[in-house]
Amino acid sequence: VAKKERNTSKMYSPSMNDVPKKELMLENSLYKALEHGQFTLFYQPKIEMTTGRIYGAEALIRWKHPEFGMVSPLDFIPIAEKTGFIIPLGEWVLHTACQQIREWERMGMTGMSVSVNMSMLQFQQKHIVHTIERIISDAGIRPQQIELEITESIFMDNAVHTLKVLHELQNLGVKLSLDDFGTGYSSLSYLQNIPLHTLKLDKSFISDIVSDFKKQMIFKSLIVIAHNLNLKVVTEGVETQEELSIIREHKCDAVQGYIYSPPVPAARFAEIYLEHNR
Ligand code: C2E
Ligand code: CA
Ligand code: CA
Ligand code: CA
Repeated sequence: VAKKERNTSKMYSPSMNDVPKKELMLENSLYKALEHGQFTLFYQPKIEMTTGRIYGAEALIRWKHPEFGMVSPLDFIPIAEKTGFIIPLGEWVLHTACQQIREWERMGMTGMSVSVNMSMLQFQQKHIVHTIERIISDAGIRPQQIELEITESIFMDNAVHTLKVLHELQNLGVKLSLDDFGTGYSSLSYLQNIPLHTLKLDKSFISDIVSDFKKQMIFKSLIVIAHNLNLKVVTEGVETQEELSIIREHKCDAVQGYIYSPPVPAARFAEIYLEHNR
């Protein structure tokens, strides 16, 4: 089924194959899902290499669908972006993450830094900075505790406006992190022009790094570049001890990956945190 047809008709037609049908069903139930509390955030620990401590988490959305079970964000974020639903959903994500930080503070898990993924469309909103400011201050947390993860895709549309927004966010005190670096069209010029705090090296950087010498050299050099620009470097998708020792050798600041923990529900995260940081 062509994209165009799918957009104009939301009715089920027998000619549709299974994939678009599921997509259509997801699209139709997205709004209800928010009302019915079917979304939840999972948290993946971010580990600081020098201390070995968990200093924060990345918030990753999950959809507990009554029919399909746990739906991956890879399956519904693109739909939410296409339909504009990402706007209310993105606000819900930030709100929930900020409230969670507050809750963790109460439990004695102080100074947590939580990363939240942002979509391009959110940056096209006129009042995005005000919205973010309000959500953070409602929760009573410090803006420095929130790190917004962006990808270069946010510059595809109205780059001038986007850059202005990023500077306003920096003034507000929230941190900005460039996600998925090393995939797609990552360009060094982004490091030069965006008010960034963190560079996140994509999983593709670390897989095969053990056997790929050139990859190791690029990895090593990028960390040097990032450090010279005063950026923190986080490597994501770390799965093995061998990968971890290379990361340590090249002085990467922090890691995320299955080697420590997959994304887990908030309650489980607190257990892991208390156990790990004891
Ligand atoms: P991402 O931001 O690059 O998130 C990292 C993904 O890698 C997550 O997948 C995480 O579960 C997975 N991961 C973490 N460690 C490992 C590892 O060691 N090995 C492997 N193989 N994978 C690992 P997840 O949770 O399925 O999220 C997929 C993508 O969906 C995210 O990629 C992000 O682009 C998007 N996403 C998730 N939550 C949100 C959200 O709240 N808002 C928006 N706009 N996008 C979101
Ligand atoms: Ca991310
Ligand atoms: Ca990423
Ligand atoms: Ca991504």
